[in-house]
Amino acid sequence: MTIIEKLNKSEGKTLFSFEILPPLKGDTINSVYENVDPLMEFDPAYINVTYHREEIVLKPAGNGLLRKKIIRKRPGTIGLCAAISARYKVETVPHLLCGGFSREDTENALIELDFLGIRNVLALRGDSVKGQRHFMPEPYGNAFAVDLVKQITDLNNGIYIDEELENKHATNFCVGVAGYPEKHFEAPSLNIDIQNLKAKVDAGADYVVTQMFFDNASYFSYVEKCRDAGINVPIIPGIKPFASKRQLSILPTMFHVDLPDALALEVLKSKSNESVRQIGIEWAIEQGRELLAAGVPALHFYSMGRSENIRNIAAQLF
Ligand code: FAD
Repeated sequence: MTIIEKLNKSEGKTLFSFEILPPLKGDTINSVYENVDPLMEFDPAYINVTYHREEIVLKPAGNGLLRKKIIRKRPGTIGLCAAISARYKVETVPHLLCGGFSREDTENALIELDFLGIRNVLALRGDSVKGQRHFMPEPYGNAFAVDLVKQITDLNNGIYIDEELENKHATNFCVGVAGYPEKHFEAPSLNIDIQNLKAKVDAGADYVVTQMFFDNASYFSYVEKCRDAGINVPIIPGIKPFASKRQLSILPTMFHVDLPDALALEVLKSKSNESVRQIGIEWAIEQGRELLAAGVPALHFYSMGRSENIRNIAAQLF
């Protein structure tokens, strides 16, 4: 069943879902299973698997100069989705980016997913490669997530890049897209960002999943603005349990999100990362309780590779 079918059939019950990362290159898949196993008792409706594109790193060339090396630290998104679906009999949602993909690469990745029976995709633009100032699409690649959504919708209508193909099987992908309650950092205003979100939905996106936020008011106000703009698909809140003192600066820098004073001050006062994790768990439980009471379609948790805190939170909420 696709995510949108699950959401439509949930009869008002909030679904539980979470996001995981592929293991670091060199590590085994067991490190992922160790994180997924403890969450399966909460019957996740689906599991997202992130996509990590290549990075440009500078390595000493041995002659006092540096040489550019292109590496991918966490390959394996599609294979991991297939392995998780087979092992746990759960729907998986691979993240698919514009960045690093020509439209031909995208089509081939979608064909691979279709063959594997994976019918859900989260369509994203991706960020610029580390070392580049702005996002640069690949030659013949999609420039914005809306273009990727259009390509997936085309394939769902049996439209391939090569118009002369003889047997054109129409796929049946359910497409999720990203939304930003506190605005995407490149967008000139929240309203313009919401208009760009509407374009993704008009192009065929079935649902939206939000960037993490720590103040539910920003999610509620975002949903209201989206509805006013004519976006009528489910908007799933994304929750990230706060987990270390370093995240006080990492989360605002990397994800462009605000931390409420009450949370930041409590974290600042705390003496150990163990107590910060506990603060993060309690904060996420409070957020979750309010969102559940508001009847949100699903609660989607960002694990960032660790599931222990999500287990503690899910045990209180589901
Ligand atoms: P878009 O929807 O294309 O928007 C990007 C920016 O362009 C926005 O400012 C938007 O307002 C603007 N825009 C959109 N359309 C147009 C247009 N036609 N003309 C002008 N401006 C336009 N990154 C990864 O690398 N891997 C992941 O697995 C991953 N997972 C994510 C999961 C979620 C739930 C979220 C919220 C983000 C995730 N990201 C991931 C990060 C994401 O790739 C970045 O936030 C990226 O900068 C934007 O992606 P997008 O799909 O929202 O882009």
